[in-house]
Amino acid sequence: MPDKNLCTAGILFCMGCGSPRVDVNSWKSPGRAIVTCCNCGETGEMQGFTIGRSFAVTSGMIREAREDMAYPRRGTA
Ligand SMILES: [Zn+2]
Repeated sequence: MPDKNLCTAGILFCMGCGSPRVDVNSWKSPGRAIVTCCNCGETGEMQGFTIGRSFAVTSGMIREAREDMAYPRRGTA
């Protein structure tokens, strides 16, 4: 993965289906969110972060972010 500018805004994607339609549905503790995909129902925990929604995100922005998605490296623990 090339160097990234960590000061850009990010878009959260579901690792199950790739949909950006994810949101916090509850809190396990004050710093640990339970996040659910509105498309496939995938649910996971996210610690130390939260989600801010915008209705002004364009399909082009989502496409650009999808092409830049981070994935865990294969073959590493
Ligand atoms: Zn999903």
